[in-house]
Amino acid sequence: MEKMKTQNYDEYMAEGKTLFGEDIKKWKFICPSCGLSQSAEDFKAHDIDGETIDHQIGFSCIGRSVPDLGCNWTLGGLFSIHTLEVVKDGHTHMRFEFDKTDNNGVA
Ligand SMILES: [Zn+2]
Repeated sequence: MEKMKTQNYDEYMAEGKTLFGEDIKKWKFICPSCGLSQSAEDFKAHDIDGETIDHQIGFSCIGRSVPDLGCNWTLGGLFSIHTLEVVKDGHTHMRFEFDKTDNNGVA
């Protein structure tokens, strides 16, 4: 099991921008359960509404809204296998890791 990483919110956002650019909709996150890379654009491609995307992206697998994908993982569940926590305003939030396998040539 990977060691837990803790980042503050500014570090986390800066890393996302470095990896994927300014457009958050293109940021890719890895589900720690099924390993699927997913961005807000992927959610949109499955006709998932914006409010649901905001709640799920980087926290619950896209499979929760797309049963065919066969994964309904959420960091809000009983078991904890996440490896990243982001601290914002003194609160710790569990997050999916960024997908660092394909950096879209930004890097
Ligand atoms: Zn998943």
